Amino acid sequence: MSILKAVRGTRDSLPPETELWNHVEATTRRVFARYNFGEIRTPIFEDTSLFARGVGEETDIVSKEMYTWEDRARAQSEKAQSLTLRPENTAGVVRAYIEHKLGETGLLQKLYYIGPQFRRERPQKGRYRQFWQIGAEVIGPSSAGSESPLRDAEVLEMLAAFLDELGIEDWRLEINSVGSAADRVRYVAALREALAPVKDRMCEDNQRRAETNPLRVLDSKDENDQEIINGLPKIADYLDEDSKAHFAAVLAALDACGVKYDVNPRLVRGLDYYTRTTFEFTHGGLGAQNALLGGGRYDGLSEALGGPKAPGIGFAIGEDRLILTLQAQTEQAATLADAFIAPLSVDLNPAALELARELRRTDLRVELGDGGFRLKKSFEIGNKLARKIVLLGQDEMQSGILTVKDFASGVQVKVARGDLAQALLVTANN
Ligand code: AMP
Repeated sequence: MSILKAVRGTRDSLPPETELWNHVEATTRRVFARYNFGEIRTPIFEDTSLFARGVGEETDIVSKEMYTWEDRARAQSEKAQSLTLRPENTAGVVRAYIEHKLGETGLLQKLYYIGPQFRRERPQKGRYRQFWQIGAEVIGPSSAGSESPLRDAEVLEMLAAFLDELGIEDWRLEINSVGSAADRVRYVAALREALAPVKDRMCEDNQRRAETNPLRVLDSKDENDQEIINGLPKIADYLDEDSKAHFAAVLAALDACGVKYDVNPRLVRGLDYYTRTTFEFTHGGLGAQNALLGGGRYDGLSEALGGPKAPGIGFAIGEDRLILTLQAQTEQAATLADAFIAPLSVDLNPAALELARELRRTDLRVELGDGGFRLKKSFEIGNKLARKIVLLGQDEMQSGILTVKDFASGVQVKVARGDLAQALLVTANN
């Protein structure tokens, strides 16, 4: 029989790696709370039309990467509903914003999420078909200040603080403005015009993009096409006065708080909903898939989904890529338990379980051996799993005095049962 494996593009996370995931998520919750964000959890699947309307029919994500299926119709008269595993989370958050009428509070909504997303991309290092994103959105009516460039700068400053707090070194922030929806219409028209005479010399993908979604040509990685791409019109020349002033104000606020950035006029990003500010944080250690996170402003998204006007800005961090970066920076050691309890005979197993329960209640990390093991084996296993071994034999049960040996120092001591947790705690915290 063939051995079953995780599906291509999906992965298991095992200890000690999962501790890193938990550390990243705990840091997220701690840092984001300082900026007064609250957590939102949206469903993993949604109506397919949410992504078609929210992300854009012509994007790579919607046109080729979604996991979509027809749900069973509830009645024969009913049409089957088309459902999709979420490929990103912003559309879901904005749907929830509209559905729960969060705009009626008149306040800015500051929401973050942590969860899996699904895209049928070609798997490689840093690119998976199920991957995790940590994202946040700041969205609300214009009267709440949602269009202010201060919101953009604050979100970027939070990301810089978050990466710094995680100890991620050498990240780079690239930023651009793709202008208002009207600016984009004029720019896309200019791009189409410039591409028309040259597109036949470009790769097949870019020929298709030149037709369907010319903005996407700009972030093509095809080497042969770079010369043509460098000669294409720049979005900066198509921004109206408001968009220019908005972008300048974002940059000025970043300067004021010392967040370093590079303006990249070609950064348009893959999702249709972006307006004005777009940005990406990259990291050199990641190789080809070097984007740690990306985001931008989406002033028209709520209306595109049938909701009220609700400008917003958000981002999504690739959690898998954060973990890869942290792993490359630090050699991760397995966490040792505080104590390994070794019952010296099978009839002492229940007493050993009881002792373990007592110690775990004091928050100690405890491994439990088995009375069926020979003493030598208990020491061997204990040495791999824990910092100390606690021996539990008949003598110990009767006297209430336990033998504790520290593996690192080799020192063996006798400790009264009542003092055991305290004795282990003291060293656990050192
Ligand atoms: P996007 O939603 O495309 O703007 O992506 C935001 C971030 O999510 C990227 O910068 C990556 O870090 C991460 N990401 C996107 N797609 C994948 C994928 N297939 N596998 C792993 N991470 C991804």
